[in-house]
This record gives sequence, structure tokens and C-alpha cells, in this order.
Amino acid sequence: MAATIVLHPEREKSLKRHHPWVFASAIAEVKGKARPGDTVEVTDSQGAWLARGAWSPESQIRVRAWTFDQNEVVDNGFFMRRLEGALRLRQRVINANTTNAYRLIASESDGLPGVTIDVYNSVVVVQLLSAGADRHRKKLVWALTRLFPDCAILERSDVDVRKKEGLEPVVQVLHGDVPATVKIKENGLSIIVDVMQGHKTGFYLDQRDSRDAAARYAKGACVLNCFSYTGTFSCYALAGGASHVTNVDVSEPALELARQHVDINGFDQRMCDSVNADVFEQLRHYHEQKQQFDMVILDPPKFVDSRASLNRAARGYKDINMYGVQAVKSGGLLLTFSCSGLMPADLFQKIVADAALDAGRKVKIIERLSQAKDHPIASNFPEGYYLKGLVCEVTD
Ligand code: SAH
Repeated sequence: MAATIVLHPEREKSLKRHHPWVFASAIAEVKGKARPGDTVEVTDSQGAWLARGAWSPESQIRVRAWTFDQNEVVDNGFFMRRLEGALRLRQRVINANTTNAYRLIASESDGLPGVTIDVYNSVVVVQLLSAGADRHRKKLVWALTRLFPDCAILERSDVDVRKKEGLEPVVQVLHGDVPATVKIKENGLSIIVDVMQGHKTGFYLDQRDSRDAAARYAKGACVLNCFSYTGTFSCYALAGGASHVTNVDVSEPALELARQHVDINGFDQRMCDSVNADVFEQLRHYHEQKQQFDMVILDPPKFVDSRASLNRAARGYKDINMYGVQAVKSGGLLLTFSCSGLMPADLFQKIVADAALDAGRKVKIIERLSQAKDHPIASNFPEGYYLKGLVCEVTD
């Protein structure tokens, strides 16, 4: 018999609105025994059924809801239905003629808390971050092998947040033969994804639409791509007619792939430089040298990992944006991003405004960017909105 989790009367609202998380502080009583990853029933204080979810005794988020339908059982069919629904949406938003890599499952937003699934051409990469997700690995693989019979499946659950769930990092082949790298197509460009060792599941699919924006603005531009990873913003810029691009990143393997991306897309290596350096130092260096660019892209890693670190992160974002603004020629463009979910969009805009002020430049926002459409935001899970971008004109 599944354990039953009874909520405090004043803490039922969120689950009743179908937000999928139950925090430890919302729980009044645990009836029965539950082990990590077990499926539990959640009721209100009066015993009325609210949700069925996965038990995570080591996390502050004690239950992640699988379903708000009492008749729905968490079996193979459940995972198949979730994957089919998610795939239908991707078929609507991804142009299969030009793009064969996309996020299939964006965890809570696709009704599968703790599960991320990215499809890279013929390789499916799975990341399982919660005890519940970890428990149902086999069912997911069952459904995936039926939906994608020709694909290999790799698990890249090598992330620190698993510790919060009492889980060890795991990297393993779940099905078929997984090559070290996979060639994908994104908006017609060729990109090599290091599925075994690359960041996250190998690639930053969420910036697809922002890369496309960079292409639209790049005609004739000399571009500085900061935090370039494998240099795909730069390839888009070259495709859009940029005259020159410079990639800056601390990861040499990422820069090496960036050089390959120039070749495999038929661009001239003389149009591309890579600098293995800390972006903060490199931007200070350009400032001292009075070197400026027509377009500067700033796509830093997540600076905020907890509410407590928001202030410190805000300073980091302001510094990097001040240097970024300084590096733009008058009349040029800054494309600046924050992928921290805990950074509100209005605060990010204010930080960019303060950075412009400190740099003594004028900034006008001409376009807002967000995570690509295969990273949807379920209305019951506003936390699903995390990536914010601004395209800014910078003048003296
Ligand atoms: N724009 C990329 C994704 C960037 S992810 C894309 O579209 O694919 C962030 C990148 O910043 C990572 O490649 C990481 O290696 C790099 N990085 C993190 N801190 C850095 C720093 N201080 N200086 C330079 N690069 C840094």
C-alpha cells in the first residue's frame, strides 16, 4: 500500500492549483512507509485526494507530482502518454527539414518532474534528477525505444543537484551504441555535439531562437561571442553575413569544436578567432586596448543557484554587462542573456540599465528573447521560465 502524505490545511493551495511541488514544511503527516522514489498519495488536511507523486525524503521538495488524475497510474503507459504529448508539441514547433535536435521533455513543464530528455539526431540523452525520475528509468527507456526505435539512448545524470536527492552521479548507455559525438542539424547549420563529455546533455538547445536572432542582426558585423561554448552563435552570425567573429571561453575542448564548426559549415577560418580566457579579464583587456565590436554576445553560465546568492549574482551580471556595453561600438548591438531562473526579467533589465549608466553609454532594448519553443513553460509551473535575453542598441 502506498503511503499517504497529508498536508497542513493552510498549505494546500499550491497543489490544488496543480503546482507539482510539495515542500517539507507543507506536510502535516506521513501515513505509512515510503522509501526514496516511491509513489505516494497526497491528500488535503481533510483526507481528500489531491495528487500522486514521487517521494524524495532527502530533498526540501518532498513530493513531485506525477499526476492530478486519481485514475492515472504511474506505469509504462503513463510515460508513453507523457512522451507522446511532448513529441506532438515538438513536431509543431521544430522544423524537421532544417533541425533534428530538440528538447523532448522539459521536466515539470512536460509533466515529468526531474526528467530532461534531449534528442540529438540519432541519440537520445536522458537526465534524471529526482528520486522519482531515477526510480522509473526502465519505464522511460521502454517508452523511448518504442517512440525512437532507431535511436541510441545515453544517460547523463552527472550533475550535483542529484546529491540533494541522495543520488550518486550516473553516466551510462541505456540502449544501443552511443558514439562519442553526434552531428546534428540546427536551422540548416551542422553542429557537433559531444554527448559524452559536453556540458549538460551536450549542447545548449535553449538558445536556438537567440542564435537565429544573432544571424538576423549580423550582416557585415565584427562579432565578439563571449561565453561561446562551441561557437554556435558565431556560426549563425557568419551565416547571417558577419565579417568576423571572436569566440571567448575558458573551455579548450569547446573552442576546438568551435573551430570544427567553422570548417564543417564551409566558412573561412580566417574569419574566426578563438580566445581561451576568462571573459571578465578579456573584456577588461579590450577596454584597455580601446577595442570595440559591432556586436557583442554575452551568454554567461547560471550565476544564481539559490535565493541567497541573488545579490551576489546581480553584481556579477552588472559587472559583465558593464564591460560588455563598453565593448560595443557606438551604434552597435549587445545581445545579453541570463539563464538563471531565480533572476526575474525586470531585475535583469534594471541590471543592464545600471550597467549602461556605469559605462556612460545609452542603451535601447529593441528585442526580447527567451528560451526556444521546445522549452515550454507550463502555466502551473512558472519556474519553467528561466532564460531571458535582450537585444540592445548601444550608443555614446
Ligand atoms: N552561448 C553558448 C552557451 C554558453 S554556456 C551556446 O549558445 O552554446 C556558458 C559557457 O561559459 C561555457 O562554455 C563555459 O565554459 C563558459 N564560461 C564559464 N565561465 C567563464 C568565464 N569566466 N570566462 C569564460 N568562459 C566562461
